[in-house]
Order: sequence, then structure tokens, then C-alpha cells
Amino acid sequence: MRSAVIVGAGPNGLTAAARLAREGWKVSVYEARSTIGGGSRTAELIETGVRHDVCAAVHPAGASSVAFRSLRLEEHGLRWVQPEVPLVHPLGGERAGVLYRSLDDTVAALPGRDGARWRRLMQPLLEDFDYLTGFTQGPLIGVPRNPVAAAQFGLRAVWPATVLRRMFRHDEAQALLGGLAAHSCLPMNRPFTGGLGLMLGLMGHAVGWPVAEGGSQSIVDALASVIRSHDGELHTDHEVMDLRDLPSADAVLLDLAPRQLVAMSGGRLDGWRGRPYRRFRHGWSACKVDYVLSGPMPWTAPEARRTATLHLGGPFSEVEESEAIVQRGGVGARPFVLVAQPTVADPTRAPAGRHTLWAYCHVPNGSPLNVTDRIEAQFDRFAPGWRDLVVGRAVRTAPEFVEYNPSAIGGDFAGGSMAGLQLLARPRIALDPYRTPLPNVWLCSASTPPGAAVHGMCGWHAAASVLRG
Ligand SMILES: Cc1cc2nc3c(=O)[nH]c(=O)nc-3n(C[C@H](O)[C@H](O)[C@H](O)COP(=O)(O)OP(=O)(O)OC[C@H]3O[C@@H](n4cnc5c(N)ncnc54)[C@H](O)[C@@H]3O)c2cc1C
Repeated sequence: MRSAVIVGAGPNGLTAAARLAREGWKVSVYEARSTIGGGSRTAELIETGVRHDVCAAVHPAGASSVAFRSLRLEEHGLRWVQPEVPLVHPLGGERAGVLYRSLDDTVAALPGRDGARWRRLMQPLLEDFDYLTGFTQGPLIGVPRNPVAAAQFGLRAVWPATVLRRMFRHDEAQALLGGLAAHSCLPMNRPFTGGLGLMLGLMGHAVGWPVAEGGSQSIVDALASVIRSHDGELHTDHEVMDLRDLPSADAVLLDLAPRQLVAMSGGRLDGWRGRPYRRFRHGWSACKVDYVLSGPMPWTAPEARRTATLHLGGPFSEVEESEAIVQRGGVGARPFVLVAQPTVADPTRAPAGRHTLWAYCHVPNGSPLNVTDRIEAQFDRFAPGWRDLVVGRAVRTAPEFVEYNPSAIGGDFAGGSMAGLQLLARPRIALDPYRTPLPNVWLCSASTPPGAAVHGMCGWHAAASVLRG
């Protein structure tokens, strides 16, 4: 029987392990912390019985993941729960940019002719969504199977958000696009930021922006269940510091940052072959605040009360400015804040009378800044009176994210910057970027294509590379 050792039990490490286990390999997973899950854990942070997603909370990428579908995670306890509305971007008072599941509803709600423009942008891509998901969920280097659809997407995706926004005249559509593009963790004038926003918007129409019932932990628990059902082993509280300490195996897959691979390699990557791994650039981090509330958030925009995900930051220009300040090494007075209110869609996470709120804004890599006051000032703006509902809060800064997860270098939560070539080719330019220069060692983390988010696709493709031999 062939055997594999996987280091790191994040969604990518577990997906790689699940795929190999299903193919009849003997797999053993080693996780540094006391629980599995990496950026997909759920925990009681403030009050007994109230469960918070410590990192990832909202799952358009998970719901469209080819890997999760193929592994039939629903049969292992995973259930996606859809809020009534995928995403809302409040603009003050009752105004908001709203991404509905239905393209028609989204088009109808956008003012002026912006609805028709939104349709022009989205409709052709939506028709090719299944192909585009497969295309964007893997290495982008290579010959596309459907060059027409790929070109159609590429011609729209290559633009910076600052250029794509010019398609629209009104704040609603512009802000919607800007908030989506801000997930790139890049200044909005960078190429492909518009494309990343487009893809997230498309996912909203095609699969929604669901949360996982009971919390994101249920995604990784389902992966663990697949592994165990094929007699795989999971070891927690086992931090691996050197590859030579691992049991011998036919393949070693690392759900880790490239820098960790170098550190573990016993000097074998000190030369030119290790250069891309040593030079790999890490991106922004987050300052995150979780709350237990005694009631739902009193958003002034009615649609905001029907969604699990909000982008707070006002019009496009403010979001653009917020992200430009992070790029310059600071955090603005009005930061762009990503908000999840999972209990709107999934009441199982908290007892009656309790609600959870999850919010973070971008901070520079490694920044120890605690910007809770600035995040809360944005809540004051769009949900006045919310402070009366606060039962408790828990803050996590970038250095605390490093402590929580050793592969979050400087608190980088995207597995590496998506700037420049690193968007397309990470951690190095290669047809098989998962394979490393070390014999029988693969990288399977979000530092490989397609990058950040809980979709398991990095692990899925790394396992495919292992299976190819
Ligand atoms: C605040 C925040 C919010 C986010 N929100 C979302 C969201 O809403 N939706 C979404 O899709 N994504 C979101 N993400 C991103 C998502 O969590 C990550 O992209 C995803 O978890 C990456 O998965 P991974 O398996 O590559 O790595 P990770 O999840 O980082 O897992 C790596 C694992 O390896 C372990 N490890 C590290 N070093 C060692 C070692 N030496 N030995 C053994 N084990 C080790 C770690 O403890 C960890 O468990 C968010 C991330 C953060 C931080």
C-alpha cells in the first residue's frame, strides 16, 4: 500500500489526505495545534454555547468547490445554509448595493441603467460558470480546454477594479464591485482586482454565499470523516519542525507556507532551487473582532438584515482609499470592514436570544494594531444603537493570528500576496507548482493555485500530482 504523510490539517491538507485515502493510500496527518481545521475552525470564544468562526465564515468558494463536491461532504455531515440574500453593501440610511442570488433581482434593484450593465458583465460568464470554476480553481498556467470562455473571462478579469467600476454610474453597483474586489487584499488599481471581484459576484449568483451549518468547523470535520472512513490517521498537538522527523512515506504533502518548507528542509533549499520559496511574498493580515449580541444588528438598510455577509465601507472611493492606506503601511480612520452575521442564516450556533457577529479589516503584514474602535465606528455609521446589544467581544490581532496558526506568516491570511505573478503562478512558475525540488515532497497549501479560501482545491490538485507520480 502506498503511503502519504500530510503536515497541517487545514482545509487543503485535509482535502489532499481525503483524496489520497479515497484512492487507497495509507494517510497520516500531523497538525501542530490541538484541533484540526486551520482557518476553518469554530470555537466558543466568549460565552459557553455560542460558537464563532475563528477565521473563515462565508463559503462561496466552498460551495463551488469541485473537490468538496467530489468528496461528497454532505454525506459526512456538511450542510450549506443560504441566507435570503448573499451579500449587502450598505451606503447609509436605507441605501445599499445588493447582490441577490437571482441575476434578475440584482439587475432590477440597481438604479438607472447600471442593472443592464451588471447583466452585460455577468450573464455570459454565468452561462459558463461550471467551466470557469474548474478553470479558476486550478493552476492558470496551461492551455485552457474552452479557450472562448477563458478569453471571455480573461478580457473582463484582467482589469483593475478602478477601471471596471467605470462601467457603472451609481454608488450601488460601484460599491458592490469595490467590496468584492477588496477580497484580493490589494490596492484597487492593480490588474486582476476587478476579476477577483467578478468571480466572487458570479459565485453569489451561481451558488450563493452560504455559511456551514454549525460553523466552518463542520467542513473540516466532514473532511476528517472521509479520511477516517478510509482508515486514515489524524494526529493533533504535533508540530513538525524538520522533514527528517517524519515517518518515511511515498509522499509528503505540506499544508504550509513556502518559508516553512525551506526551514524544514535541512539546508537543501539554500541554493538557487530554493529561491522562489525563500522569496515568496506574504500579504496583508487582519484585525478581527467577534461579538456575542443579545439581538440582531439594527442595520438601517433593510436588506442588510436578511444577509449573512456585509461589506462596510461606503462608496467605492472610500473602499479604494481604505485599501490604499493599508498598502502604504497603515489603517485608515474608516477602514473597509468585512462582516458576517452567521446566526441570521444558521441559528444552531447560539442559544435563543444570542447572535454572533464576526468582523475584520485589513492591516499590514505583521501589524500589531488593534483597530476595534475604527471597526466599531463603521457599525455606528450603518447600524446606530448596536452597542446596546453587545454581550461580549474578543479581539485577534495579526501577531495573535501567527500564534494561532504558524503558517500564517505575519498574520497573512491568504497564503501569500496575490500581487503580480503570484496570482497566476505560486509559489513558482511551473506546470506543476505543487511539486517541490525535494524528492517526494509536495506543497498543498493556499500558497499554491488557486490560492486563498476554504475550497480545498490546492490540496485536491496537489494530491492529483502525487497520484500522477
Ligand atoms: C480572519 C480570516 C477570515 C477568513 N475568511 C474567509 C472566509 O470567509 N471564507 C473563505 O473561504 N476563506 C476565508 N479565510 C481564508 C481561509 O481561512 C484560508 O484561505 C484557508 O484556511 C487556507 O487553508 P490551508 O489549508 O491552505 O491553510 P490553513 O487553514 O492555514 O491550515 C494550515 C494548518 O497547518 C498547521 N500547521 C502550521 N505549521 C505546522 C507545522 N509546523 N506542523 C504541523 N502543523 C502545522 C496549522 O496549525 C493549520 O492548522 C479567512 C482567513 C482568515 C484568517
